[in-house]
Amino acid sequence: MQKLSMPQLFKVYAPRLLVWFAISALGCVLLARTELAQLREAFETDARISHRLLSQRVVQHEAVLATLALLQPAAPPGSTDSAEQRLSSVYPQILGVQRRDAGAAWPDASLDAAEQASRQTRAAVLANADFTSARGRYQLVLAAQPASYALLIDIHGTIPWTDWSMPVQTSPVRVTLVHAGQAFVVQAGHVAAGGWQFEFHKHLDSVSQSFEVVAIRQVGWQELPWLAMALWALAVAAALAAWSAWQRQRSARRRAEALLRVGQVARLNSLGELAAGMAHELNQPLTAILANTQAAKRLLQDDPIELPTALQAMDQAVAQARRAAEVLGRLRRSVEQAVPAVPGQTVDLAQAVRSALDLLAPECQRRGVATAVHIDQPALVLAERVALEQIVHNLITNALQALDAVPASERQLAIHIGAAKCMGVLRVVDTGPGIAPDTLPHVFEPFFTTREGGLGLGLSLCETLASGMGGQLSAQANMPRGAIFVLTLPLASRP
Ligand code: ADP
Repeated sequence: MQKLSMPQLFKVYAPRLLVWFAISALGCVLLARTELAQLREAFETDARISHRLLSQRVVQHEAVLATLALLQPAAPPGSTDSAEQRLSSVYPQILGVQRRDAGAAWPDASLDAAEQASRQTRAAVLANADFTSARGRYQLVLAAQPASYALLIDIHGTIPWTDWSMPVQTSPVRVTLVHAGQAFVVQAGHVAAGGWQFEFHKHLDSVSQSFEVVAIRQVGWQELPWLAMALWALAVAAALAAWSAWQRQRSARRRAEALLRVGQVARLNSLGELAAGMAHELNQPLTAILANTQAAKRLLQDDPIELPTALQAMDQAVAQARRAAEVLGRLRRSVEQAVPAVPGQTVDLAQAVRSALDLLAPECQRRGVATAVHIDQPALVLAERVALEQIVHNLITNALQALDAVPASERQLAIHIGAAKCMGVLRVVDTGPGIAPDTLPHVFEPFFTTREGGLGLGLSLCETLASGMGGQLSAQANMPRGAIFVLTLPLASRP
């Protein structure tokens, strides 16, 4: 496994981290919103129930007053068996009943004012409301004939605790009854700072006691579904890791397949080059053997000793030499046929460069070579795709090998694509040590190599393939240092 530098690590992992973060954040926001919506729904249900229960309770007070007024004439004042006296046992929140008989006066003036108002509205009227003390109280006055009534009501006793939907001690919801700027705390709840706040405001369904029910629920950050969010982020990380492992596997497989293809072509073509080289190398000696043995035969004819044997040996040598020459000739002809004479496809030079660079990406990365592709002009050429890819692959491989000889910081590889005079032009430019002037004329010769372990067949194969497709391959020096290999191929559509 190759070691990556910090910037390379950042380049590889930053986009993945970004994707992980975006998907995780999106999921977490959705989870949090769902949780908040559920909390809000539960809160609103509780608040509505409280409002309904309280409304039902306070309406009872109006009914009690109306009943007292109807039951007149009431028992004389001070009677212990009057309905007024028994009320508290039925309605514990009613702390007392006051009655003003005709001609009598209320013990305090505010009840007078309330009675006046009640007489006008013909409904019960609120008096002496005290919501601020721990045990809130208020009075409800109904003007009637002959006696008017006033109830003293305990707010805390009014709360229907048995039907209350929330656990009073632990519920986070704060419930208050608000009247004329005063607030009676029904349920304290926990109202902390920060987070989200839900509110419910609604007046009780009663004309005389239309107190406002105010419910507040503060949802703190700690109430968000952190466990679910963390599990989601982990699941996303696992899925992304699996996906990128699968991607890596797939591209490794593709690269291996492509390398195999290029390798097979290279091997086949190298064998062809090898055969061509052998033919070139062996043809001359074989011709010489032929000429010499024929001369020897003539000389031996002058010598009477072992004449028949010598003649037979020479005949055999002649026959073998001819057979060898024929074999080599056949081999050469078949090699020549292997090189495509007429290119059949329209191939994008840039595409060929991209697939070669894709194959060699791990090599470039391992060597720390900065590669740049400049498309000066798009070039669609007539070529045999695999042969073209083979040439580009060889040229880039050679450049990478040459770049090994210079410090990592100076390793640059640039590929230029353009067109000139009906030809597509591909230039592979490196900043390696370059080619010495006396070496330059030999680099395309079969078996010429300056590389340890080199075969010296790559460039000669490339040149054969290029000329087989109607193109050319040449080399020159790069300034101030390095080599430039220029491949030209006929453009598919000529201007
Ligand atoms: P091999 O790579 O097996 O040596 P090639 O035919 O590919 O065979 O290359 C022949 C020779 O050309 C190399 O040994 C090297 O001396 C020279 N050569 C090829 N490409 C470059 C290059 N980019 N920079 C310098 N020299 C090069």
